[in-house]
Parts: sequence; C-alpha cells; structure tokens
Amino acid sequence: MSGSLVVVGTGPGKAELMTPASQAALARATDLVGYGPYLDRVPVRSDQCRHASDNRVELDRARLALSLASAGRQVAVVSGGDPGVFAMAAAIFEAVESGDPAWRGLDIRVEPGVTAMLAAAAEVGAPLGGDFCAISLSDNLKAWTTVERRLKAAAEADFVIALYNPASKARPHQLGQAFELLRTVKAAATPVLFVRAAGTAEAEVITTTLGAADPSRADMRTLVIIGASTTRQVGRWVYTPRSERGAP
Ligand code: SAH
Repeated sequence: MSGSLVVVGTGPGKAELMTPASQAALARATDLVGYGPYLDRVPVRSDQCRHASDNRVELDRARLALSLASAGRQVAVVSGGDPGVFAMAAAIFEAVESGDPAWRGLDIRVEPGVTAMLAAAAEVGAPLGGDFCAISLSDNLKAWTTVERRLKAAAEADFVIALYNPASKARPHQLGQAFELLRTVKAAATPVLFVRAAGTAEAEVITTTLGAADPSRADMRTLVIIGASTTRQVGRWVYTPRSERGAP
C-alpha cells in the first residue's frame, strides 16, 4: 500500500471541537507525528506509532513525517487548532519544496480544524462579525519590525485584530509594546479581550479596553482580540456589528 500524509488539527481543546473528519484521519493512521502536548490530546492505539517531538523543530518533524509517508506509512501530523493557522501544514509544504523531489508526488492532505480565534470569539459573543485579521506576535520566524508594520496597518485599516502567540517566557515584553503601538492609532476605549483556554472547560475571559489592558494577563494559552471602532459590549457579550454604520 502506498503511503500518505494527512495534517490534522485537534481544535482548541475540547474533544467535541475536533471534527469527525479529523478523528477519522487519525483512526486510519499507522503513525502519529507531532509536538508532545498536542499528541497527548488524541487517543493513540497500541497498533499506532507515536513520534512526539519538541515544539521548536517543526521542519525536522515535517521531514520525518514525509520520510515515513514515502516509506509507505499512513502518517497523521497533529497540530493544535487548525493545522494551517500558524502550524504544521505550512512546515510540511516548506519541507516538500526544499526536500526530495519524489515528495511532490505523495498523497498529502490537510484537514481543517477549529482555530483558537474562532473558539475565543465564541466565548465572548461575536467580535469577529466585521472584517478582521490574525497576526502572530511571535518573532521566532519573522522580524519584530514586520510585526509592528502589520499591527499599525491593521489598526489604520480598522480591522478587528486577533493576536496569536501574544506572550511566552522568552518574549514577555512584546504584547506591551504592541498595545503601546495600537494606542497611537486606536481609541483608548476600544474593547480588548483576553481569552485563555478557549473551547476548553477552563476557559477564562477578561474584557477590558485598550487604555486599561494589562499585558501581563496573557500567556501562551491566551488569544487576544482587539476590537475595531464599531466593536461594542451588550450585556456580558462583545460583538462587532456587520454594518459599518454600526448598530442597531
Ligand atoms: N494552529 C493553532 C495556533 C497555533 S499558535 C490554531 O489554529 O489555533 C499558538 C497560539 O494559539 C497560542 O499562543 C495562543 O495564542 C493560541 N491558542 C491556541 N489554543 C488556544 C486556546 N484554546 N485558547 C486561546 N488561545 C489559544
């Protein structure tokens, strides 16, 4: 039987938020490849091989998965959330591009998943009801000046902004710098949401404003949403009206 590779997302956490198609893809796999904590979220049968690795070596993990598939294995590469959003699917194609030309002929598929931004939005209402964008604050793979340029452009265009990777132990100051930059363009009253562990039983939400937002409230499991000029609160919910004229 010829090999295959499928890139699968676990969703944000709760088992029900993993799609049936992703569960079926995992069940068909002979080999599961991924960062340890993500692999821990999925059931592994005794007849399946588990290849857990460190988070920092995405490209090595991608090459391992491609080598296994070209040796005839049915490989599932596991990411959190959606596998195409700041995750493994792009690393797989990068490895294909720079690797063995035969890899281009492999059966490679990507299964969509529920990304953190959607789970976080659902915890608070409908903050992504108007135009929005997603930016990763991590400067592991891009320059901080690139992050700043994109934040400023997104603020000037009045997008709702979803920030992935807002903070880590290695990067404690960047979210504060991002808020400072956004305050030069957006109103201090702009709603800001810190959503931690969205789509899990431990979900926590902090609703604040750009003027008052405390960057130390974010960690690696937090998604930060910064509203557009029309984003508002109604009762305990936050939403962005679909009409730019505002609501109601
Ligand atoms: N592929 C993933 C994102 C990987 S980047 C996805 O589609 O969701 C990792 C970042 O995603 C984290 O630093 C955090 O900002 C965010 N994240 C992942 N799971 C989350 C969750 N359950 N709640 C809030 N943010 C989450």
